[in-house]
Amino acid sequence: MANKKNNSGRNFLLLNYFKPSIYLRSYKKINLNSLKNSGIKVILCDLDNTLIGWNQRVPNADIMNFVKNVKENGFEFVLFSNNIRSRVQNFAKKAGIENYFWDCKKPLLGKMKIVKKLLPFDDSEIIMIGDQLITDILVANRAHIKSILVSPISKINEDSKIVRFLENFIYKSLSQKNILQEGFYTEGELGGNYEIL
Ligand SMILES: [Mg+2]
Repeated sequence: MANKKNNSGRNFLLLNYFKPSIYLRSYKKINLNSLKNSGIKVILCDLDNTLIGWNQRVPNADIMNFVKNVKENGFEFVLFSNNIRSRVQNFAKKAGIENYFWDCKKPLLGKMKIVKKLLPFDDSEIIMIGDQLITDILVANRAHIKSILVSPISKINEDSKIVRFLENFIYKSLSQKNILQEGFYTEGELGGNYEIL
């Protein structure tokens, strides 16, 4: 009995590395006021399938609006993408985003450490937005910052079969442990004024 308990405890801890602080359908559902009230000052944001479909290039009005709102609310906004320089740079310029990092190699911590050094903020003041558990949410938890998981804009993506398999496997495990259910967003329960876990 004791053994069994220990094992499940360990699994639970590992799975917690994939647990977002907030889970929303889309970046459009983000309540910036609520983030501000929770002391967030920096928003790191994934690009592909979080802000824009991986096969799209031009930011639409919703994205432009979001970036504008983020800035007007006094947040630092930083694109934090695993994609190549040309794609990230082109998008950032079109969307009016001054701070952007490409080839971030999430979930590795290298670029994250550089960003943290550049920005004079505490870990507790930074949040990462992204659509993938094994890159965006994992890097956030490894870096001890908060995170918002959003559903991917397009179900079709460039990821390898292994990445997709792992992502599905983790969703399944999280659901079995009652940590996170795919499609059961935080906003539904808390009416958009969510508590950060
Ligand atoms: Mg993504």
